[in-house]
Amino acid sequence: MLSALRHRAAELGDRAVHLRTETYRDALRQVDEPLEVCHPTSRRAREFVRGLDRVAVLPPRGFVTAQPDFVAWADERRGALRMEDFYRYARRLHDVLMDDDVPVSGRWNLDADNRQPPPKGATRLDVPDPPEIVEDDIDAQVREDLDRWAAEGIEFVGRDGPRRFPATRAEALARLRHFVDHRLALFGPYGDAMLSTDPAMAHSMLSAAFNLGLLDPMEAVRSAERAHRVDGAPLSSVEGFVRQLIGWRDFVWHLYWYFDAGYRSSNRLAANRSIPAWFADIDADAVQASCLSDVLAGVRDRGWVHHIPRLMVLGNYGLQRGWRPGELVDWFHRSFVDGYEWVMTANVVGMSQYADLGRMSTRPYAAGGAYVNRMSDYCGGCRYDPRHRLGVDACPFTAGYWAFLDRARDRLGGNVRMTRSLRQLEQIDDLPAVLAQEQARGPHAP
Ligand SMILES: Cc1cc2nc3c(=O)[nH]c(=O)nc-3n(C[C@H](O)[C@H](O)[C@H](O)COP(=O)(O)OP(=O)(O)OC[C@H]3O[C@@H](n4cnc5c(N)ncnc54)[C@H](O)[C@@H]3O)c2cc1C
Ligand code: SF4
Repeated sequence: MLSALRHRAAELGDRAVHLRTETYRDALRQVDEPLEVCHPTSRRAREFVRGLDRVAVLPPRGFVTAQPDFVAWADERRGALRMEDFYRYARRLHDVLMDDDVPVSGRWNLDADNRQPPPKGATRLDVPDPPEIVEDDIDAQVREDLDRWAAEGIEFVGRDGPRRFPATRAEALARLRHFVDHRLALFGPYGDAMLSTDPAMAHSMLSAAFNLGLLDPMEAVRSAERAHRVDGAPLSSVEGFVRQLIGWRDFVWHLYWYFDAGYRSSNRLAANRSIPAWFADIDADAVQASCLSDVLAGVRDRGWVHHIPRLMVLGNYGLQRGWRPGELVDWFHRSFVDGYEWVMTANVVGMSQYADLGRMSTRPYAAGGAYVNRMSDYCGGCRYDPRHRLGVDACPFTAGYWAFLDRARDRLGGNVRMTRSLRQLEQIDDLPAVLAQEQARGPHAP
């Protein structure tokens, strides 16, 4: 963030006034003219700017559907809000991948063609790495400041390393072009897969660039659409990428404002355990479970892992262990390069922890080791066995899945999508022993 801010000030030269002050109010005291600010990205910041004299608040930037359109759409639903429904509305509204009023190819969602496990025996996907970022003098100054602040006692999360994400528009555009030309084709089929030696696979790694305002999501959407219509890029990948941006990203943004401020503290599964120290401190080396250890190491070293490790490894583990959703929101917010309050709330509280009991998802994203085994290469080298729920090699995800269902069964009982899983739970004869085993695991690193 600091690098992007300083690069922008340098690009604008004498058209920018870059003030370095302790607080925003201190900066405002140094300016006499009326000011405009883009709609901020958190409730607290919005309160703050709305309370200032001489400051006009402009509409938000960096999202596709306007707030009044979302509100009109959501108000009409009056019940559970579903991304897929919103996504179709947005496709029509913005005329994306549409042939008149019909979706290209006649299908709205091609996810069924995707969701493939990693190619057998592969250690990485056959796609070139994104263009490298070369640090410059501005990055060196940022590093000096960070080192000084660390010496003064400010605690940072994770390990320092080279800057891996765009901080200028030119860097972001180069990444987008490279993604569309060389990586997009494999984005769809392998979007849900994980490889221990290829953390990015065919993901775009552009979330930080979108969130910093270096790229507009619609330019990425149009560029992917063109790649399909003009260059024949596979529709399942293009549709999948478009859905992430005009569907998920916008949906999550709008829900942050549409739900009331109390949504952030939802905890309707009554998850009341604190996040243990090894997780809070991102101590990947304390963890023996291969999947969790590798994903934590990715957060520690890069501040980024792709969507499935976030949802199905980190979030899934927290859900199974009954960690407080609010603590997880804070953890994701502070640990990720693309972390912002608006993006955390629905993704963590609603999607990953199901703490709203279905206001935005149809069922909890809880899964055992069989899922991780099918979608990754982690289990082969792990000291646990994904098929075992009991014993010294019992997989913490497999055992944790049943322990979670047992704990949440009353609250999930009314959900038809959970009926099969809850029926399976009834048939587990060694359940008491599994529960005792997981109780004993408690806050210890698996
Ligand atoms: C528990 C959890 C925490 C998350 N935290 C963040 C976060 O702090 N910041 C963040 O930007 N995204 C977050 N996401 C969403 C998503 O995982 C990341 O945007 C994505 O992994 C970033 O990698 P990428 O740019 O390669 O994405 P790609 O897989 O290439 O997807 C393309 C773009 O779609 C957008 N996108 C896709 N899914 C979502 C989503 N659910 N919410 C918002 N945008 C989405 C992103 O802008 C992303 O760059 C989170 C998801 C979960 C389940
Ligand atoms: S066996 Fe379990 S803990 Fe080990 S990698 Fe597989 S899912 Fe993760």
